[in-house]
Amino acid sequence: MQSFNPPVRTLMGPGPSDVHPRVLQAMARPTIGHLDPAFIGMMDETKTALQYAFKTENELTMPVSAPGSAGMETCFANLVEPGDKVLVCINGVFGNRMKENVTRLGGEAIIVEDKWGEAVSIDKVEATLKENSDIKIVAFVHAETSTGAMSDAEKLCAIAHQHDCITIVDTVTSLAGSELRVDEWGIDAIYSGTQKCLSAPPGISPISFSERAIHKLSNRKTPVTSWFLDLNLVMAYWGKGAKRAYHHTAPVNTLYGLHESLVMLTEEGLENTWGRHTQNHLDLKAGLTEMGIGFVVNEADRLPQLNTVWIPEGVDDATVRSQLLNEYNLEIGAGLGDLAGKVWRIGLMGFSARKENVTLCLAALKDVLK
Ligand SMILES: *Cc1c(COP(=O)(O)O)cnc(C)c1O
Repeated sequence: MQSFNPPVRTLMGPGPSDVHPRVLQAMARPTIGHLDPAFIGMMDETKTALQYAFKTENELTMPVSAPGSAGMETCFANLVEPGDKVLVCINGVFGNRMKENVTRLGGEAIIVEDKWGEAVSIDKVEATLKENSDIKIVAFVHAETSTGAMSDAEKLCAIAHQHDCITIVDTVTSLAGSELRVDEWGIDAIYSGTQKCLSAPPGISPISFSERAIHKLSNRKTPVTSWFLDLNLVMAYWGKGAKRAYHHTAPVNTLYGLHESLVMLTEEGLENTWGRHTQNHLDLKAGLTEMGIGFVVNEADRLPQLNTVWIPEGVDDATVRSQLLNEYNLEIGAGLGDLAGKVWRIGLMGFSARKENVTLCLAALKDVLK
C-alpha cells in the first residue's frame, strides 16, 4: 500500500464543493481531547458562529457529528412520534427522503407533490393544511439540490404556523449560499451540511431548534428511538456550561475545519457571501446563455449555488463529464431521476463560487462541446 494522494480537482457539482486551503490547514492541527477545555472553548465559538450563519438566537444550535443526512434524521427522530401526521413537500430527491424518515418513525406522511424543477406550491400546502386539521409538522426542502429549485421558506413557515404546525426545513444547500433567516421566517427545526456552501469537508450537520420545536420534543410520550441522535442526550455534551458529559467523541479535526470556515464566513460577512453566490451565478448564466445552454428552473425560483441546465441536443452526458474530469480536473454533476442524462448540475457553492471557477467551467465546456 501507498499513501493516498488524491488528484487536485475543481469541484463544481452538487457537493462536496471546493474546501478552502485555510480550512484544510486548520484540520491538520494537532488532535486534542474532546473534553479538553481548549476544545470546549472552540465548541462554544462554533455554536455562536452557527447562530450567526442561521440568523437565529436559538440556544439549541449545534453541529451534529455526521453528514447532512444525519441532520435530517436528527430533526425527524426528535420531533416525529408514532401516529403524528406530517405534511411532506416533495419536489425532488430530498423531499422523498423526508417522507422515508416520517414513515420509518411510525408517522403518517401527507404528501404535497410538485414537479421536479419547480418550487413547492404554497397554494397546495395551504389547501392540504385546511383539509387536515390534525397535521402537526410541515417539512420541506428550501434548496432542492437535485433540481436547482428554491422554495419560499418564509411563506411556507407562515402558513404552517397559521395552522399550528411546526416546521422542519432542509437547508443543506442554502445555508451560506442564499438568503436564510431562521428567526425572522419562523423556522422551527433546521438542518444543514458543511460540504455545500460552507466550504468545509463533508461530515458535519449544523442544526437549530426553536422553542416551539423544543416544546414538542420535551412533551413526547415516547422516547426518541435513536440513541445517538436523541437531542436530550446530545445536549448534555454540546450544551451550555463547563460541565460536559461524554456522549460520543466529536470528530475533533473536522470540527476545526468547520470552525475555520465559520471564521471565514464572519470575515466576509453573511450578506456578502450570499451576494458572491448570486454574482457568480449571473456570470455563469451569461456565459451559458451565450453558448445556447438553457436552465431547467424558471428564473424566479432558481438557486444561484446549483445551476441545472439542459444538455444540448446530440451531446452525450457521460462523455462530456469524463472529458471535463480527465482534461480539466473539473467535476460537474449529473442529473438524477427523470432528469438523468438530460441535465447537468453545475455547483457554485462556498469556495467554489469564484470568478476563476466560472471562467474555467465556461472555457472547458466550450472546448469539450466544440
Ligand atoms: C447534500 C444534501 C443532503 C445530504 O447531505 P449529506 O452530507 O450528503 O448527507 C440533504 N439535503 C440536501 C438538500 C442536500 O443537498
